[in-house]
Amino acid sequence: MQTHFFDTRIEYLKGVGTSRALLLNTELQIFNYGDLIQYYPFRYEDRTKFHQISDLYDGMESAQIKGRLRFVEKIGEGHKARLTGQFTDGSGTMELAWFQSVSFLEKNLRAGAEYVIYGKPAFFQGRPQMQHPEMELLNPDNEKGGYFQPVYGLTDKLRKRYVDSKVIANMQRNLLDQAYNHIRETLPENLIQKYRLVAKRDAVYNIHLPQSEAWLHQAKRRLKFEELFYNQLRLIKQKLLRRVDYSGQIFKSAALVTDFYKKHLPFELTNAQKKVIREIFEDMKSGKQMNRLLQGDVGSGKTIVAFICMLLAIDNKAQACIMAPTEILAQQHYDGLKIFADLLGVTIQKLTGSVKKKQREVIHEGLRSGALKIIVGTHALLEDNVQFQNLGLCVIDEQHRFGVAQRAKLWEKNKHIHPHILVMTATPIPRTLAMTLYGDLDVSVINELPKGRKPIKTVHRYDSHRLNVFGFMRDEIAKGRQIYVVYPLIEESEKLDYKYLEDGFESLSRAFPENFISIVHGKMKPADKDFEMQRFINKETQIMVATTVIEVGVNVPNASVMVIESAERFGLSQLHQLRGRVGRGADQSYCILMTDVKLSKDTRTRIETMVRTTDGFEIADVDLQLRGPGDLSGTQQSGVIDLLIADLAKDGEILRVARECATEILEEDNNLDLPKNEMIKEQVDNLRANESNWARIS
Ligand code: ADP
Ligand code: MG
Repeated sequence: MQTHFFDTRIEYLKGVGTSRALLLNTELQIFNYGDLIQYYPFRYEDRTKFHQISDLYDGMESAQIKGRLRFVEKIGEGHKARLTGQFTDGSGTMELAWFQSVSFLEKNLRAGAEYVIYGKPAFFQGRPQMQHPEMELLNPDNEKGGYFQPVYGLTDKLRKRYVDSKVIANMQRNLLDQAYNHIRETLPENLIQKYRLVAKRDAVYNIHLPQSEAWLHQAKRRLKFEELFYNQLRLIKQKLLRRVDYSGQIFKSAALVTDFYKKHLPFELTNAQKKVIREIFEDMKSGKQMNRLLQGDVGSGKTIVAFICMLLAIDNKAQACIMAPTEILAQQHYDGLKIFADLLGVTIQKLTGSVKKKQREVIHEGLRSGALKIIVGTHALLEDNVQFQNLGLCVIDEQHRFGVAQRAKLWEKNKHIHPHILVMTATPIPRTLAMTLYGDLDVSVINELPKGRKPIKTVHRYDSHRLNVFGFMRDEIAKGRQIYVVYPLIEESEKLDYKYLEDGFESLSRAFPENFISIVHGKMKPADKDFEMQRFINKETQIMVATTVIEVGVNVPNASVMVIESAERFGLSQLHQLRGRVGRGADQSYCILMTDVKLSKDTRTRIETMVRTTDGFEIADVDLQLRGPGDLSGTQQSGVIDLLIADLAKDGEILRVARECATEILEEDNNLDLPKNEMIKEQVDNLRANESNWARIS
């Protein structure tokens, strides 16, 4: 039976045996045939053609050459020993060199024999050479070239035990010889036809042993499509299920909102703000529980949108909460919203870790009785003793700091009928990623900044120009502006970071009068932080020296210069967030990125991107290209992003098509009950039963 076949333990495979099986178990978590066949290569080496030694050039990534190993010679002794050899193919000669496994190679390489070698050519005094080339005796299999060599992820331990990509490819070959006929199709015929996909078994075969470039391409396309299709299908299904399962409170009366619009709204809302408010109101009137993601670049005005939505809830006898990731942010939301709430006679309080027990109890009581309408807070809101009379709307600000589990906890704060959830994020998530991460949320986007904002000017300066930068800062302060100077804070080297911060503070103190400067960092007590923050907000100080605690959300419209020290140590989205702290008032704002002269290629790209554009989505895309989706948004724990073969940075188009396809199917057949969808249903159930198991493939 099929299932039994892929369950076969890996030691039974030809070419594996007990000791290698143990290695595969511990190093790669490969236990059975199914695990191995799903261990896909992450790239391929082009062995389709042979190069001539005379054609090699500097900067070539790799070359495959067929020729004769004239001789090898060991030079030096002990751990300093190295092996050199001379290799010729008729067009020229080159030197080969090895610094590792010297005695093994000395014993095994055969002088005078013909080899196919592969490696990265280098040049020394104009002559070609190759270090640690792969050596394979010429044989009927490799003499014609014409194949793609799969490259598998390996660990040091595997390499030390001579399990390299070739060895794994051989295991795959042995396995596929038997497995090919056991691989079942996992997509229905109509989809295979419609999207012109190759059969599952051929895709799996060619992903390990590509018969040609064209086959490799088709194999990847097929497997990526399938992976993304089922990923989207599950997310969309979840979303539909929830629609059906969870009803939501119906908020109809908008009198309070109208009152606010008429009397207190301090500015005209942007069209984008109006649009998203309409979308959110629709949800909150629909009778179904809302789960919506509100995306809007920094400074796009999400807070006021959230407040207006809270008013809708409150006008309908419900309560609302807003949860922020830090004390400072919670404080700021509280300060900002309290002004409006007071005008409207709506009760509002703040609940964070630093709130004293007595005050806490008062708040708890207010929430339970329903007297308290809006609560602004941090994680403290999640605690079990925070109970509401009737929680109607939860706003989660800066979602990327919160996990999916926390969202669920908020749901439970209203046992009778789940509250509506509005998740707000300024981290511009590329569309591809948003679909995968938040495929179960509806999305609203504020794609417009309030009028009258001047684009921030961003420049890059080397540390050696610091005095010029100080001069510029002085000029801006003279014009009445305020300035942030931000230092990196990376946990592993916390001590060092604080040293940078202190040194920076000192040199600033020499250049500016001491009473100009505030300092805020993570090691300070919350009260001291607030005190310093407040002095800056009140314009008592002109410069705010800070670590990244300032990163999210903080809003001081008069601050118009952001100096980022050691900018090379920040990620792109972080830089973008930081820059978003300025450009909030009417004045021309500036962002100055300070770096060392020596920069890696990626760092240069990051800095250049920041200088070139202020478009958060463009920045997010570059970020995704540079980092890959793994690190983005800290949401790995959601598990949604655990993809075997698709690459969110590159496969946006396949994802789009897969999502479209999944949507179409579910719109027609909610529960996948139609006969033509039988295979899909089965596969979905399989996937659920065996999350990360071989069932995905068999
Ligand atoms: P973010 O989306 O980054 O959270 P905020 O909600 O903090 O942005 O808003 C940034 C600033 O823009 C605030 O000072 C806010 O009062 C202001 N603002 C919001 N909407 C508008 C608007 N329509 N017109 C003018 N200013 C606005
Ligand atoms: Mg905000």
